[in-house]
Amino acid sequence: MKACVLLDKEKLEYREVETPKLKAGEVLVKINACGICSSDFNRVYGDSAYFFPLILGHEFAGKIVACSDDVDKSIINKKVVAFPLLPCNECEFCREKHYAQCKNYSYFGSRQNGAMAEYIAVPLWNIKFLPKGLAYEIGALCEPTAVAVNAISKIKGIANKTICISGSGTIAILCGLYAKSKGADVAFVVRNNLKKEFLSSLGFEKFVSLDKEKQTNYEVLIECVGSNDSLTNCIKFVKSNGQIVLVGNPSCDMNLNKKDYWNILRSEISLNGVWNSNYKNNDIDDWDIAIDFLFNNQISVSKIITDKFCLKEEIKAFEQLKEKNSIHIKGVFIDEK
Ligand SMILES: [Zn+2]
Ligand SMILES: [Zn+2]
Repeated sequence: MKACVLLDKEKLEYREVETPKLKAGEVLVKINACGICSSDFNRVYGDSAYFFPLILGHEFAGKIVACSDDVDKSIINKKVVAFPLLPCNECEFCREKHYAQCKNYSYFGSRQNGAMAEYIAVPLWNIKFLPKGLAYEIGALCEPTAVAVNAISKIKGIANKTICISGSGTIAILCGLYAKSKGADVAFVVRNNLKKEFLSSLGFEKFVSLDKEKQTNYEVLIECVGSNDSLTNCIKFVKSNGQIVLVGNPSCDMNLNKKDYWNILRSEISLNGVWNSNYKNNDIDDWDIAIDFLFNNQISVSKIITDKFCLKEEIKAFEQLKEKNSIHIKGVFIDEK
């Protein structure tokens, strides 16, 4: 099969690789859409790849085309997505079904080969089925949407809460759209007009600009950037007894000055870390909620996909998404076949 392979730092190549062989309990998924995540940029341009050569990609949707002998063949041709984390099933967190906390996990597109390829072998346990009417490219948004669902689930009594989001990437926007669908009053901290226009086109109307001296305070701040400035702003804009939900992966050491730290204490601010999503396989989890949300909001969520590529455009894809002069939110590799 063909795959987009990271051979070394900054060295991507579209090349022929062996099609994965199925082990017991696995299904072969033909990949129709695979999202490019900001963490993939750190693997290509930074130092976060665990090994080379590596096939990236953990946000994908496709169709089951084959099953191992022990799997019921009636699921062939079904549209699917997959939880990209492969738990050990032995540690205390796995036994409690808190798989995202597994201490010995593998992960598609990072700790093992991923989905920027024609096919991927996936344990049936990791598979969620998509409704027929959900486009593959929207299905590829399931993973970041499940993270957003997890983040918003940290907020108790979401309806009518005033929420401000710092950041405007895929997960920030999905947090905003999902919180809005739950009845929250959502504002964004914006740093430039292009982003403001884009967010307006998604139906958001409230913006916090950083230069204003007097700011409205919000009950909840969602930090989706992972920078010191963004965290400091969250502390500045949150109400007394409010909550800050920390989602953005840190791009540097996160330091607080004494005044801001005092503010957390004096205003009794709650801080919630968010990592990955809750996956339960057979029970209702963040993924089921994400699939439902995407299915019911296809028009607005489709606007998040600003860039589409075919797999052999891998170098162009990563270069184009890095450009700062226009809006690039989510890039997706699409295979219509
Ligand atoms: Zn990701
Ligand atoms: Zn485990």
